[in-house]
Amino acid sequence: MELTHKMSSYNEYVRDVLIWNQELKNLLEAENVQKEESVWRRLDKFANLMENVQRKQLNTEELIRIQHEAEELHEEMENYFTRRQQIGTIFTKEPSVGIGKHQLPPLPYAYDSLEPYIEKEIMELHHKKHHQAYVDGLNKAEIQLEKARKDNNFALVKHWSRELAFHGSGHYLHTIFWNNMIPNGGGKPRGALMEEIKSYFGSFESFKKHFSEAAKAVEGVGWAILVWSPRARHLEILQSERHMLLTQWDTIPLLVLDVWEHAYYLQYKNNKGQYVDNWWNIVNWKDVENRFLKASELKWRPF
Ligand code: FE
Repeated sequence: MELTHKMSSYNEYVRDVLIWNQELKNLLEAENVQKEESVWRRLDKFANLMENVQRKQLNTEELIRIQHEAEELHEEMENYFTRRQQIGTIFTKEPSVGIGKHQLPPLPYAYDSLEPYIEKEIMELHHKKHHQAYVDGLNKAEIQLEKARKDNNFALVKHWSRELAFHGSGHYLHTIFWNNMIPNGGGKPRGALMEEIKSYFGSFESFKKHFSEAAKAVEGVGWAILVWSPRARHLEILQSERHMLLTQWDTIPLLVLDVWEHAYYLQYKNNKGQYVDNWWNIVNWKDVENRFLKASELKWRPF
């Protein structure tokens, strides 16, 4: 924000800043940010400051003082929103990720800052090479599947679905993984999460033991994953082998079709295709709509 001492451009500047101020308030409103949070007071203070500039004839000295104060507040606001974006608590205004438009999220800390527990070289390779490869692979799979829909040619749907799952899970899980770590982390969680851990696993220690054992016992390559089940309404610890087996972790199922043989064989024998085609006649779209509305309330920062 450049301030000039010419009054006409100054008034324009003030008007722009007041609009910006209001937009930030609308954003906080949309994000349901509690009125007690100091960010509201800062925005009010900022608006007052600016309205004073409009109302009063100020001398250069006063203008410069206000300019400094405004810049300070502006910086505080910027820090506030950047921090909230980093911790993934502000997102509703961010656009969804277009087909083939996933991006490598920035590492939320320096490559060497998890040392001595994880060396810089690992972090660099892991983030810049491995994670980037997942992002590229996911983008490619999405684009190829879009092409298949356009051309109405699904000859390679099996291949690209596998790629979609493999790279999608890789991208989403690593995005969670980076933020799950922090320099000087450790200790124990607090609040509601700690309560849930105690109530489901017995104690924090037994949760930690279970999670560690699950991680060490993962066959080949994969992940240990603490999940929340919205159905059971409790936590659970899962293992993932090769992190996909045709799923994308960090997604929520909306519409599912059981194509295990037990679901159709008695009636359709080996004609699975007929079963799938007929199945569309009994889909409960109201239910899928409801699941979608509920699931889409959950929004992480897009990458
Ligand atoms: Fe990895």
